[in-house]
Parts: sequence; C-alpha cells; structure tokens
Amino acid sequence: MRAVQLAVFIALVVVIVVMLYRARGRPVRRPAALRDELVKDPVCQTYVVRARAVTRAGLDGPVYFCSAECARRYTAETRG
Ligand SMILES: [Zn+2]
Repeated sequence: MRAVQLAVFIALVVVIVVMLYRARGRPVRRPAALRDELVKDPVCQTYVVRARAVTRAGLDGPVYFCSAECARRYTAETRG
C-alpha cells in the first residue's frame, strides 16, 4: 500500500505546483473602485483618494495622508 500512498502524495504535489504556477502567472487586476477608494488621513482627518495619497509604512500596514506635511507630522508623533 506504500506505493499507492506515494502516488497520491506525488499527485497532490503536482497539483499544488501547477496551481501555484498558474496563480503566479496570472496578472493581478484590481477594479477601479478599489484603487479610487477613499482613505482617511489620521493627522487632519481628511479623506483622500488612495491613488493620490501620500503613503507611509505604519505598524499595521500602509498609512495614507493628504500631504507630505501630514506624513511628516505623523512619523514625528509615532516616533515620540
Ligand atoms: Zn492631512
């Protein structure tokens, strides 16, 4: 029965590799609605379009700002 288990295991590995290969080759397309999503500036509480926002790396992911000035103030505050 070992041969059958090995065959099943190999088949599973092949399927996973093929799925990964296909997933990697597929171009990532985001709908326009997602790109134009409004994000909130944590400094001045202004809503800005994500595509035009100033982005900085925060603790929980990217943080968006209306301007470089707000981004500067935010990093100054979080660094203490
Ligand atoms: Zn701002």
